[in-house]
Amino acid sequence: MHEMSIAMNIVNIACKEAQKDGATSISTIELDVGKLSGVMVDSLNFCYDSACKGTLAESSELMINEVPAMALCKNCGESFEIDSFMALCPKCESYEIDILQGRELRLRAVSVN
Ligand SMILES: [Zn+2]
Repeated sequence: MHEMSIAMNIVNIACKEAQKDGATSISTIELDVGKLSGVMVDSLNFCYDSACKGTLAESSELMINEVPAMALCKNCGESFEIDSFMALCPKCESYEIDILQGRELRLRAVSVN
């Protein structure tokens, strides 16, 4: 499953960070997940516990901050919220848009004990 490898990846990075700080365990991992990142938040939550098994992050909590997707119209300069890559400008109906945010999958913070 796609989300399982993402979860393992996140836990892996977080554990390395924690080890650098000399921590013995992780209490919380905070993530930014963009609406267009293609990550299913429910599946990620579901996979998280097994990804943490046997690591410093075992029995830690995953906090997901969902980032809304925003685009900027190249034609008229309007910025607006979108829910797919195929969105069009609500003002001038142009498809010429730049996606400003919403694709991120980022480790925001790791809290250690
Ligand atoms: Zn426009």
